[in-house]
Amino acid sequence: MSQIEDEIKSYALTRVGVLVAGIASVKEINKYAPEGYRPDDILPGAKSVIVLGGTQPTRGSWKTPPKYLPEAGPAGDAITARAVGLSYFIEDKFNAEAVYSIVYPSMGGPYGGAVPWQSLKLHAEMAGLGKRSMMGSVILNPKYGFMDFSSVITNLDLGPDGPLKEKVCPDESCIKMYEKEGKTPCMKACPFGCISGEIGNGEIKEARYDRYKCFSISMRDRAHGIFIRRAIKKALEGRDAEMKQILYGEEFANAQLMLAYGIQRYYGNCWECLRSCPIVQKGTKR
Ligand code: SF4
Ligand code: SF4
Repeated sequence: MSQIEDEIKSYALTRVGVLVAGIASVKEINKYAPEGYRPDDILPGAKSVIVLGGTQPTRGSWKTPPKYLPEAGPAGDAITARAVGLSYFIEDKFNAEAVYSIVYPSMGGPYGGAVPWQSLKLHAEMAGLGKRSMMGSVILNPKYGFMDFSSVITNLDLGPDGPLKEKVCPDESCIKMYEKEGKTPCMKACPFGCISGEIGNGEIKEARYDRYKCFSISMRDRAHGIFIRRAIKKALEGRDAEMKQILYGEEFANAQLMLAYGIQRYYGNCWECLRSCPIVQKGTKR
C-alpha cells in the first residue's frame, strides 16, 4: 500500500472512528453497476471509492423486542457523518474532489429506497470489506459480521483492495442446520419466508430474497398496502374538507409513491434474520 492510501485508511480508522476501511476501483465497480448508477455518474472523473464500515448495532440492541429492534439497530446517519468527515479530509489534504454516498446496504436503505443511486453492497464487496450472504445479500464481514457502510467517491487514483478471497457465509453451524432441516437460521427466522436458497459443498449455491415482501410486510403498520387502505377508508368516512386533507396529505402521498416507484420512504425492517445469524452475533462489537 502506498503512503496516500495508508494515510486515508489510517485517518478513517483512527480519526473518523470506523471499524474497517477499504478502497475499490471505479473501473471494477463499473463492470457490475449499470449505467446511471456508477460512481462516475455521481462524480465525473471518479477513479476510486473509499468504503467505511462500522456503527454496528450495540450488543444490547439485539436483545430488544422485535418491535424496537429496527429503531435501535441502524445507525445509518452516523456512518454517513463519518464519510462526510473523510470527504473533507481528502479534499483539503490532497487537493482532490470527493462526494459521499448516503445509502447503505442493509435491507432497503432509507434514502435510495428499493433502487438506490449507488450500491454500497457492491462498493463494500469491491473494497474487500465483506461478502454477500444468504440473508437478502446483506454484506457480512468475517470479523465484525454486520455493519453499516458509507462510501466516499473521489477522483484520486488509489490502489484498490479488491474483493475478499475467503468465504464468509454460510457459517459452519448454518451448513449443519441446512443439512438437517433444509433451512439456515436466517431462512428459519424470517416470519414471512422472504429468504430461501440452496447450499452446495458448503457454499451458497443460490440465494433468494423477496425484498418487496420484506419491505411491505416487515414495515408493519407503515406498509404501503395498509397505508392505502387506511387512507381511503378515512377519506370515504370523512367530510369534504377532511377528505381533501387526507388525500393530499403526506401519508397518502407516501403510499402513492411507494406503489408507483417501489420507494420505501420509511426505514425499519424486522431484522429477525440478522438477529438469528451466527456471524452477526459473533461479530457484534463497538
Ligand atoms: S427483515 Fe424480517 S421480513 Fe425481512 S427478510 Fe429479515 S426476517 Fe424476513
Ligand atoms: S444465518 Fe447468516 S451465516 Fe447463516 S446462512 Fe444465513 S446469512 Fe449466512
